[in-house]
Amino acid sequence: MNKLRPSLIALTLICACSLTYAHDPAAPQDKGPFTLKKLAEDTYVLYGRGGNIGFAVTDEGVVVIDDQFADLAPGIAEQIRAVTAKPIRFLINTHHHGDHTGGNGFFIKMATIIAHDNVRKHMLEAPQELVASAPAQIQTLEGRIATLEKDDPQSKDLAGLRTQLDTAKKSLESARSMRIADIPAPNITFDHELRMYLGGREVQVFHIKRGHTDGDSIIYFPQSKIVHMGDLFFNKVIPFIDTAHGGSTAEWTETIDAVVARVDPACQFIPGHGEVSTVADLKAFKQYLVDLRSAVKKAIDQGMTREQAVKEVKLDQYAKFNGYEQRFAGNVGTVYDEMK
Ligand SMILES: [Zn+2]
Ligand SMILES: [Zn+2]
Repeated sequence: MNKLRPSLIALTLICACSLTYAHDPAAPQDKGPFTLKKLAEDTYVLYGRGGNIGFAVTDEGVVVIDDQFADLAPGIAEQIRAVTAKPIRFLINTHHHGDHTGGNGFFIKMATIIAHDNVRKHMLEAPQELVASAPAQIQTLEGRIATLEKDDPQSKDLAGLRTQLDTAKKSLESARSMRIADIPAPNITFDHELRMYLGGREVQVFHIKRGHTDGDSIIYFPQSKIVHMGDLFFNKVIPFIDTAHGGSTAEWTETIDAVVARVDPACQFIPGHGEVSTVADLKAFKQYLVDLRSAVKKAIDQGMTREQAVKEVKLDQYAKFNGYEQRFAGNVGTVYDEMK
């Protein structure tokens, strides 16, 4: 069971982060670990901490995709202002996770936020979910800290665990006092597809099937041949599969196939995590999901229990992917549950 913990912790952090929308002007502002890269005429990727940001500058304003964390939001706006004086008019959330929507509280004051129906739904439900799940997680963390303090007081894990505990407690507190009306959820939602025409540019925003969650959007700029995949694409990174919010590896591979069939093959793809890449890397990521599914299927066919599968199943060819140690076993357990 030990191996499942990192994924539980990751889930806790993702949930916790989704509640840190509010921008407090008195709070210390993180100037950010930003790297801005121009991908095509007037289209950029902004790497920082959290999900990759994309933005397009048009004569009628800027369209931004995702906004990382609340403390980074002013820095993100600053990065955009460094290349254009045009106003930020639209923000698209690729999905609801806190590392992609954390800056919404800042941007909603200046922009209209667009996302799939389920992004709004999950964001509005997040405080209740956290109030339900956080006490058990806080208890687990307190237990681990107490054990370490007794057995290995010099452990270098202690500081990290104490930070996690502090974050979990603060998130619970803010979830309890959060009013639905104050959640900066998308203003405009859609179920299938939406097209925007701004300053002579077309922006296609579409949802295909379930994947990383049940509310993922793909954003396609056909003129500049750029696609933002959100967390449907982890480039050389082991993914997080959010089945608690409708994620499905079975539909995820179909979703990627549909994107590849639809967009120009010369496109540059912005992943949710990892470097901007070509269609070959996107296909390589899909292959990871295919290989993961067939390895788990084989384990099930051999009669392995969930615990055995989590321990035994390995995909050494992906050991170099970022996060293999931390998340691969969790991926196996998730797919096992999906197939059972
Ligand atoms: Zn993410
Ligand atoms: Zn995500």
